[in-house]
Amino acid sequence: MGRALVTGAAGFLGSHLCDRLIAEGHEVIGMDNLITGDLKNIEHLFKNEKFTFYNHDVSNFIHVPGDLDYILHFASPASPIDYLKIPIQTLKVGSLGTHNCLGLALAKGARILVASTSEIYGDPHVHPQTEDYWGNVNPVGPRGVYDEAKRFQEAMTMAYHTYHGLETRIVRIFNTYGPRMRLNDGRVLPAFIGQALRGEDLTIFGDGSQTRSFCYVDDLIEGIYRLLLSDHAQPVNIGNPDEISIGDFAEEIIKLTGTDQKVVYKELPVDDPTQRRPDITKAQNILGWEPKVNRAEGLKITYEYFKSLPSEELYKKEHKDFSQYARKNK
Ligand code: UDP
Repeated sequence: MGRALVTGAAGFLGSHLCDRLIAEGHEVIGMDNLITGDLKNIEHLFKNEKFTFYNHDVSNFIHVPGDLDYILHFASPASPIDYLKIPIQTLKVGSLGTHNCLGLALAKGARILVASTSEIYGDPHVHPQTEDYWGNVNPVGPRGVYDEAKRFQEAMTMAYHTYHGLETRIVRIFNTYGPRMRLNDGRVLPAFIGQALRGEDLTIFGDGSQTRSFCYVDDLIEGIYRLLLSDHAQPVNIGNPDEISIGDFAEEIIKLTGTDQKVVYKELPVDDPTQRRPDITKAQNILGWEPKVNRAEGLKITYEYFKSLPSEELYKKEHKDFSQYARKNK
Protein backbone atom coordinates (compact mmCIF):
# COMPACT_ATOMS: atom_id res chain seq x y z
CA MET A 1 0.00 0.00 0.00
CA GLY A 2 1.28 3.45 -0.79
CA ARG A 3 0.76 7.15 -0.44
CA ALA A 4 -0.80 8.79 -3.49
CA LEU A 5 -1.33 12.36 -4.64
CA VAL A 6 -4.40 12.89 -6.84
CA THR A 7 -4.59 16.26 -8.60
CA GLY A 8 -8.08 17.31 -9.66
CA ALA A 9 -9.36 15.30 -6.71
CA ALA A 10 -12.66 17.19 -6.45
CA GLY A 11 -13.52 16.61 -10.09
CA PHE A 12 -15.63 13.89 -11.65
CA LEU A 13 -12.83 11.40 -12.36
CA GLY A 14 -10.46 12.57 -9.62
CA SER A 15 -13.04 11.95 -6.91
CA HIS A 16 -13.80 8.44 -8.16
CA LEU A 17 -10.06 7.74 -8.27
CA CYS A 18 -9.66 8.88 -4.65
CA ASP A 19 -12.48 6.51 -3.65
CA ARG A 20 -10.83 3.62 -5.46
CA LEU A 21 -7.34 4.26 -4.07
CA ILE A 22 -8.70 4.48 -0.53
CA ALA A 23 -10.72 1.30 -1.03
CA GLU A 24 -7.47 -0.40 -2.09
CA GLY A 25 -5.87 0.68 1.20
CA HIS A 26 -3.74 3.59 -0.02
CA GLU A 27 -3.35 6.88 1.78
CA VAL A 28 -4.57 9.69 -0.49
CA ILE A 29 -3.74 13.37 -0.72
CA GLY A 30 -6.34 15.09 -2.84
CA MET A 31 -5.42 18.41 -4.45
CA ASP A 32 -7.73 20.78 -6.30
CA ASN A 33 -8.17 24.52 -6.79
CA LEU A 34 -11.93 24.00 -7.13
CA ILE A 35 -12.35 25.99 -10.34
CA THR A 36 -14.27 23.23 -12.08
CA GLY A 37 -14.13 20.70 -9.22
CA ASP A 38 -16.59 20.61 -6.34
CA LEU A 39 -15.96 19.69 -2.70
CA LYS A 40 -19.31 17.88 -2.68
CA ASN A 41 -17.63 15.11 -4.68
CA ILE A 42 -15.16 14.33 -1.88
CA GLU A 43 -17.02 15.53 1.22
CA HIS A 44 -17.64 11.92 2.23
CA LEU A 45 -13.86 11.34 2.42
CA PHE A 46 -13.15 14.13 4.90
CA LYS A 47 -13.85 11.90 7.88
CA ASN A 48 -11.50 9.23 6.56
CA GLU A 49 -8.11 9.42 8.27
CA LYS A 50 -6.44 8.14 5.09
CA PHE A 51 -7.56 11.21 3.17
CA THR A 52 -6.13 14.75 3.24
CA PHE A 53 -7.22 17.65 1.05
CA TYR A 54 -5.08 20.57 -0.16
CA ASN A 55 -6.70 23.49 -1.96
CA HIS A 56 -3.93 24.31 -4.42
CA ASP A 57 -3.48 25.22 -8.09
CA VAL A 58 -0.98 22.71 -9.48
CA SER A 59 0.11 25.17 -12.18
CA ASN A 60 2.11 26.71 -9.32
CA PHE A 61 4.94 24.92 -7.50
CA ILE A 62 3.60 21.92 -5.58
CA HIS A 63 4.83 21.14 -2.10
CA VAL A 64 3.79 17.91 -0.43
CA PRO A 65 5.45 16.94 2.84
CA GLY A 66 6.51 13.32 3.33
CA ASP A 67 6.90 10.39 0.96
CA LEU A 68 4.85 9.77 -2.16
CA ASP A 69 4.57 6.48 -4.04
CA TYR A 70 2.11 7.56 -6.73
CA ILE A 71 0.99 10.75 -8.41
CA LEU A 72 -2.17 10.74 -10.54
CA HIS A 73 -2.45 13.99 -12.47
CA PHE A 74 -6.13 14.56 -13.24
CA ALA A 75 -6.37 18.33 -12.79
CA SER A 76 -7.77 20.02 -15.88
CA PRO A 77 -10.97 21.51 -17.18
CA ALA A 78 -12.28 18.74 -19.44
CA SER A 79 -15.46 19.89 -21.10
CA PRO A 80 -15.42 22.03 -24.26
CA ILE A 81 -17.56 24.68 -22.54
CA ASP A 82 -15.14 24.95 -19.60
CA TYR A 83 -11.97 25.21 -21.59
CA LEU A 84 -13.49 27.82 -23.85
CA LYS A 85 -14.19 29.93 -20.77
CA ILE A 86 -10.79 29.43 -19.14
CA PRO A 87 -8.46 28.68 -22.06
CA ILE A 88 -5.25 29.94 -20.49
CA GLN A 89 -5.85 28.08 -17.24
CA THR A 90 -6.45 24.96 -19.35
CA LEU A 91 -3.15 25.41 -21.21
CA LYS A 92 -1.30 26.05 -17.96
CA VAL A 93 -2.55 23.04 -16.02
CA GLY A 94 -1.74 20.66 -18.90
CA SER A 95 1.75 22.13 -19.38
CA LEU A 96 3.04 23.87 -16.23
CA GLY A 97 0.88 21.70 -13.97
CA THR A 98 2.21 18.56 -15.62
CA HIS A 99 5.78 19.81 -15.33
CA ASN A 100 5.30 20.48 -11.61
CA CYS A 101 3.81 17.00 -11.10
CA LEU A 102 6.68 15.37 -13.00
CA GLY A 103 9.25 17.32 -10.97
CA LEU A 104 7.52 16.28 -7.76
CA ALA A 105 7.46 12.64 -8.89
CA LEU A 106 11.19 12.79 -9.60
CA ALA A 107 11.95 14.40 -6.24
CA LYS A 108 9.88 11.82 -4.36
CA GLY A 109 10.82 8.78 -6.46
CA ALA A 110 7.10 8.33 -7.18
CA ARG A 111 5.42 6.67 -10.14
CA ILE A 112 3.23 9.11 -12.07
CA LEU A 113 0.15 8.47 -14.19
CA VAL A 114 -1.10 11.37 -16.30
CA ALA A 115 -4.63 11.73 -17.65
CA SER A 116 -4.47 12.21 -21.39
CA THR A 117 -7.43 12.16 -23.72
CA SER A 118 -8.90 11.01 -27.01
CA GLU A 119 -8.76 14.72 -27.93
CA ILE A 120 -5.09 14.23 -28.79
CA TYR A 121 -6.41 12.41 -31.90
CA GLY A 122 -8.36 15.56 -32.87
CA ASP A 123 -10.89 14.97 -35.65
CA PRO A 124 -9.41 11.54 -36.44
CA HIS A 125 -8.71 10.18 -39.92
CA VAL A 126 -8.10 6.69 -38.50
CA HIS A 127 -11.09 4.84 -37.10
CA PRO A 128 -11.25 3.32 -34.53
CA GLN A 129 -8.35 5.18 -32.95
CA THR A 130 -5.26 3.12 -32.16
CA GLU A 131 -2.50 4.40 -29.90
CA ASP A 132 -0.05 4.63 -32.80
CA TYR A 133 -2.23 7.17 -34.66
CA TRP A 134 -0.79 10.70 -34.28
CA GLY A 135 -4.00 12.60 -34.75
CA ASN A 136 -5.46 15.49 -36.71
CA VAL A 137 -5.50 18.50 -34.40
CA ASN A 138 -6.05 22.18 -35.11
CA PRO A 139 -3.65 23.97 -32.72
CA VAL A 140 -5.35 27.37 -33.08
CA GLY A 141 -9.00 26.24 -33.02
CA PRO A 142 -11.17 26.50 -29.89
CA ARG A 143 -10.22 22.99 -28.77
CA GLY A 144 -6.50 23.65 -29.36
CA VAL A 145 -5.99 24.90 -25.79
CA TYR A 146 -6.99 21.52 -24.41
CA ASP A 147 -5.70 19.26 -27.18
CA GLU A 148 -2.28 20.85 -27.45
CA ALA A 149 -1.82 21.06 -23.67
CA LYS A 150 -2.54 17.34 -23.48
CA ARG A 151 -0.20 16.59 -26.38
CA PHE A 152 2.53 18.62 -24.66
CA GLN A 153 1.73 16.71 -21.47
CA GLU A 154 2.37 13.39 -23.21
CA ALA A 155 5.64 14.67 -24.73
CA MET A 156 6.85 16.01 -21.38
CA THR A 157 5.91 12.80 -19.59
CA MET A 158 7.79 10.66 -22.13
CA ALA A 159 10.81 12.98 -21.84
CA TYR A 160 10.91 12.48 -18.05
CA HIS A 161 10.64 8.76 -18.66
CA THR A 162 13.44 8.54 -21.23
CA TYR A 163 15.74 11.24 -19.84
CA HIS A 164 15.26 10.76 -16.09
CA GLY A 165 14.13 7.13 -16.07
CA LEU A 166 10.96 8.20 -14.21
CA GLU A 167 8.22 5.58 -13.94
CA THR A 168 5.44 7.10 -16.02
CA ARG A 169 2.01 5.97 -17.27
CA ILE A 170 -0.21 7.72 -19.83
CA VAL A 171 -3.91 6.94 -20.08
CA ARG A 172 -5.87 8.25 -23.08
CA ILE A 173 -9.37 8.66 -21.73
CA PHE A 174 -12.36 8.54 -24.09
CA ASN A 175 -15.79 10.00 -23.29
CA THR A 176 -16.77 8.87 -19.81
CA TYR A 177 -19.97 9.36 -17.82
CA GLY A 178 -21.49 8.55 -14.45
CA PRO A 179 -22.46 10.04 -11.11
CA ARG A 180 -20.69 13.31 -10.12
CA MET A 181 -20.58 14.68 -13.64
CA ARG A 182 -21.64 18.29 -13.48
CA LEU A 183 -25.16 18.83 -14.77
CA ASN A 184 -24.15 22.15 -16.34
CA ASP A 185 -20.72 21.25 -17.73
CA GLY A 186 -22.04 21.39 -21.31
CA ARG A 187 -21.23 17.78 -22.15
CA VAL A 188 -23.78 15.95 -24.17
CA LEU A 189 -24.97 13.48 -21.55
CA PRO A 190 -25.68 15.90 -18.67
CA ALA A 191 -27.00 18.38 -21.25
CA PHE A 192 -29.58 15.90 -22.60
CA ILE A 193 -30.59 14.54 -19.17
CA GLY A 194 -30.80 18.08 -17.72
CA GLN A 195 -32.98 19.16 -20.63
CA ALA A 196 -35.26 16.15 -20.21
CA LEU A 197 -35.60 16.80 -16.46
CA ARG A 198 -36.42 20.49 -17.02
CA GLY A 199 -38.93 19.67 -19.75
CA GLU A 200 -36.86 21.31 -22.49
CA ASP A 201 -36.12 20.09 -26.00
CA LEU A 202 -32.87 18.17 -26.47
CA THR A 203 -30.26 20.20 -28.39
CA ILE A 204 -28.41 18.22 -31.03
CA PHE A 205 -25.40 20.05 -32.43
CA GLY A 206 -25.07 19.60 -36.20
CA ASP A 207 -27.17 16.87 -37.81
CA GLY A 208 -26.45 14.34 -35.04
CA SER A 209 -24.46 12.02 -37.29
CA GLN A 210 -21.22 12.56 -35.34
CA THR A 211 -20.36 9.60 -33.12
CA ARG A 212 -19.00 9.08 -29.62
CA SER A 213 -18.37 5.98 -27.49
CA PHE A 214 -19.35 6.35 -23.85
CA CYS A 215 -17.61 4.52 -21.01
CA TYR A 216 -19.13 4.10 -17.55
CA VAL A 217 -16.92 5.63 -14.86
CA ASP A 218 -16.35 2.44 -12.81
CA ASP A 219 -14.98 0.68 -15.90
CA LEU A 220 -12.67 3.58 -16.62
CA ILE A 221 -11.33 3.69 -13.05
CA GLU A 222 -10.66 -0.06 -13.15
CA GLY A 223 -8.63 0.38 -16.35
CA ILE A 224 -6.68 3.29 -14.88
CA TYR A 225 -5.91 1.41 -11.69
CA ARG A 226 -4.63 -1.56 -13.68
CA LEU A 227 -2.49 0.72 -15.83
CA LEU A 228 -1.04 2.38 -12.73
CA LEU A 229 0.09 -1.00 -11.42
CA SER A 230 1.39 -2.18 -14.81
CA ASP A 231 4.88 -1.54 -16.18
CA HIS A 232 3.71 0.05 -19.43
CA ALA A 233 5.04 3.57 -20.13
CA GLN A 234 3.52 4.03 -23.61
CA PRO A 235 0.02 5.57 -23.91
CA VAL A 236 -2.97 3.25 -23.49
CA ASN A 237 -6.56 3.95 -24.65
CA ILE A 238 -9.21 3.34 -22.02
CA GLY A 239 -12.80 3.68 -23.16
CA ASN A 240 -15.84 1.75 -24.26
CA PRO A 241 -15.81 0.89 -27.99
CA ASP A 242 -19.62 0.78 -28.20
CA GLU A 243 -20.09 3.66 -30.66
CA ILE A 244 -23.32 5.59 -31.17
CA SER A 245 -24.34 8.66 -33.17
CA ILE A 246 -25.43 11.69 -31.14
CA GLY A 247 -28.83 11.54 -32.87
CA ASP A 248 -29.40 7.96 -31.71
CA PHE A 249 -28.05 8.84 -28.29
CA ALA A 250 -30.70 11.59 -27.97
CA GLU A 251 -33.35 8.96 -28.75
CA GLU A 252 -31.95 6.71 -26.00
CA ILE A 253 -32.15 9.56 -23.49
CA ILE A 254 -35.72 10.36 -24.55
CA LYS A 255 -36.68 6.73 -23.94
CA LEU A 256 -34.79 6.51 -20.65
CA THR A 257 -36.31 9.66 -19.19
CA GLY A 258 -39.77 9.26 -20.73
CA THR A 259 -39.72 12.94 -21.70
CA ASP A 260 -42.26 14.03 -24.30
CA GLN A 261 -39.90 16.73 -25.58
CA LYS A 262 -38.41 16.54 -29.05
CA VAL A 263 -34.96 17.18 -30.45
CA VAL A 264 -33.92 20.53 -31.90
CA TYR A 265 -30.85 21.14 -34.05
CA LYS A 266 -28.19 23.75 -33.33
CA GLU A 267 -24.98 24.73 -35.06
CA LEU A 268 -22.13 22.23 -34.86
CA PRO A 269 -19.23 23.64 -32.79
CA VAL A 270 -15.97 24.36 -34.67
CA ASP A 271 -13.65 21.31 -34.99
CA ASP A 272 -16.20 18.98 -33.36
CA PRO A 273 -14.81 15.47 -34.13
CA THR A 274 -17.04 13.59 -36.58
CA GLN A 275 -16.32 10.15 -35.16
CA ARG A 276 -14.65 8.69 -32.10
CA ARG A 277 -14.19 5.12 -30.93
CA PRO A 278 -11.25 3.65 -29.01
CA ASP A 279 -9.38 0.63 -30.25
CA ILE A 280 -8.83 -1.10 -26.90
CA THR A 281 -6.79 -4.07 -28.13
CA LYS A 282 -3.76 -2.81 -26.23
CA ALA A 283 -5.63 -2.47 -22.91
CA GLN A 284 -7.10 -5.94 -23.42
CA ASN A 285 -3.67 -7.48 -24.08
CA ILE A 286 -1.58 -5.59 -21.54
CA LEU A 287 -4.05 -5.04 -18.72
CA GLY A 288 -6.56 -7.83 -19.32
CA TRP A 289 -9.12 -5.01 -19.19
CA GLU A 290 -12.34 -4.34 -21.02
CA PRO A 291 -15.52 -2.47 -20.05
CA LYS A 292 -18.21 -4.45 -18.24
CA VAL A 293 -21.07 -1.96 -17.85
CA ASN A 294 -23.23 -1.52 -20.94
CA ARG A 295 -24.78 1.82 -21.83
CA ALA A 296 -28.31 0.88 -20.72
CA GLU A 297 -27.12 -0.04 -17.19
CA GLY A 298 -24.74 2.90 -16.90
CA LEU A 299 -27.28 5.42 -18.11
CA LYS A 300 -29.85 4.17 -15.62
CA ILE A 301 -27.48 4.68 -12.68
CA THR A 302 -26.45 8.10 -13.97
CA TYR A 303 -30.06 9.19 -14.53
CA GLU A 304 -30.95 8.18 -10.96
CA TYR A 305 -28.00 10.25 -9.72
CA PHE A 306 -29.09 13.36 -11.63
CA LYS A 307 -32.68 12.91 -10.43
CA SER A 308 -31.49 12.74 -6.82
CA LEU A 309 -29.78 16.17 -6.96
CA PRO A 310 -31.47 19.18 -5.33
CA SER A 311 -33.61 20.95 -7.90
CA GLU A 312 -31.55 24.19 -7.74
CA GLU A 313 -28.68 22.20 -9.33
CA LEU A 314 -30.94 21.55 -12.29
CA TYR A 315 -31.52 25.25 -12.88
CA LYS A 316 -27.98 26.48 -12.21
CA LYS A 317 -26.82 27.79 -15.57
CA GLU A 318 -23.19 28.28 -14.51
CA HIS A 319 -21.00 26.23 -12.21
CA LYS A 320 -19.37 29.43 -11.04
CA ASP A 321 -18.24 32.77 -12.34
CA PHE A 322 -15.05 31.94 -14.20
CA SER A 323 -14.23 35.58 -15.01
CA GLN A 324 -12.06 36.08 -11.91
CA TYR A 325 -9.85 33.16 -12.97
CA ALA A 326 -9.76 34.31 -16.55
CA ARG A 327 -8.63 37.80 -15.46
CA LYS A 328 -5.90 36.38 -13.24
CA ASN A 329 -4.39 34.49 -16.15
CA LYS A 330 -4.23 37.12 -18.86
N1 UDP B 1 -23.51 17.79 -28.27
C1 UDP B 1 -24.83 17.95 -28.67
N2 UDP B 1 -25.68 18.63 -27.85
C2 UDP B 1 -25.31 19.15 -26.65
C3 UDP B 1 -23.98 18.97 -26.23
C4 UDP B 1 -23.10 18.29 -27.07
O1 UDP B 1 -25.23 17.49 -29.76
O2 UDP B 1 -26.16 19.77 -25.98
C5 UDP B 1 -22.59 17.04 -29.15
C6 UDP B 1 -21.24 17.73 -29.39
O3 UDP B 1 -21.32 18.63 -30.47
C7 UDP B 1 -20.36 16.53 -29.68
C8 UDP B 1 -20.95 15.41 -28.84
O4 UDP B 1 -22.27 15.83 -28.51
O5 UDP B 1 -20.46 16.16 -31.04
C9 UDP B 1 -20.18 15.14 -27.56
O6 UDP B 1 -19.97 16.37 -26.93
P1 UDP B 1 -19.29 16.53 -25.50
O7 UDP B 1 -19.20 17.98 -25.23
O8 UDP B 1 -19.99 15.69 -24.53
O9 UDP B 1 -17.83 15.90 -25.64
P2 UDP B 1 -16.72 15.87 -26.78
O10 UDP B 1 -16.62 14.43 -27.10
O11 UDP B 1 -17.12 16.68 -27.96
O12 UDP B 1 -15.51 16.41 -26.11
